[in-house]
Amino acid sequence: MVEFRGVKKTYDGEILVVKHLDLDIHRGEFLTLLGPSGSGKTTCLMMLAGFEFPTGGEIRLDGQLLNKVPPHKRNIGMVFQNYALFPHMTVGQNIAYPLQVRGLNGGERAAKVKKALDMVQMGKFSERYPAQLSGGQQQRIALARALVFDPKLVLMDEPLGALDKQLREHMQLELKALHKRLGVTFVYVTHDQSEALTMSDRVAVFDQGIIQQLAAVDRLYEYPDNHFVAGFIGDNN
Ligand code: ATP
Repeated sequence: MVEFRGVKKTYDGEILVVKHLDLDIHRGEFLTLLGPSGSGKTTCLMMLAGFEFPTGGEIRLDGQLLNKVPPHKRNIGMVFQNYALFPHMTVGQNIAYPLQVRGLNGGERAAKVKKALDMVQMGKFSERYPAQLSGGQQQRIALARALVFDPKLVLMDEPLGALDKQLREHMQLELKALHKRLGVTFVYVTHDQSEALTMSDRVAVFDQGIIQQLAAVDRLYEYPDNHFVAGFIGDNN
């Protein structure tokens, strides 16, 4: 579905933060980009979303070259750690806002907002303000907003990072169940290996701008390709 071929990225002509990336993302999978801070995971996600452009190589979505396509023309949804909900708008208005920007009329907006809220089981919360929701509920609203355009792909960058441990573990299971229910392709970034192993179909382990190993979760555990992967996956702290 998505192909990265020989993708490189430098910021301001400085060092390569992504050195040479070949990666295939399969339709419907839950793929996690896992690795230490600064290993290039977010940069990959930003290139896929269109907020950064590659310095070299090609990124394709269903065969279409994406390299210079702006974010709003990619049909890709995104969820970030800090949710970025507008505090002065209700839940319904938050989700409707991007639809309004693209010129959908009131009836179309209401139908899409309802569908997106139902997807994350938050249909009753449309009149609340973000401050009246728990962290987990805000996270679900951010996800509903990412789903409102029926995206081909949903990208998530440490979306549970701001939550306490118990809620994070609960939300991990919830995201996994939601992924199964929706059948949408999820690409997820985290530095937390237990999170990656709990939720994903496959994991790409990053270090220093390259993928050290890309494999199904069981395989990573049983057959790490090198010392870095073995050490990172085996580290329980
Ligand atoms: P983290 O988990 O801390 O977000 P990461 O693995 O997602 O790390 P990136 O955020 O992709 O890593 O960063 C990779 C490198 O690129 C880092 O050294 C970072 O300082 C640098 N970098 C990221 N964004 C920019 C930018 N906009 N301008 C300059 N350098 C950047």
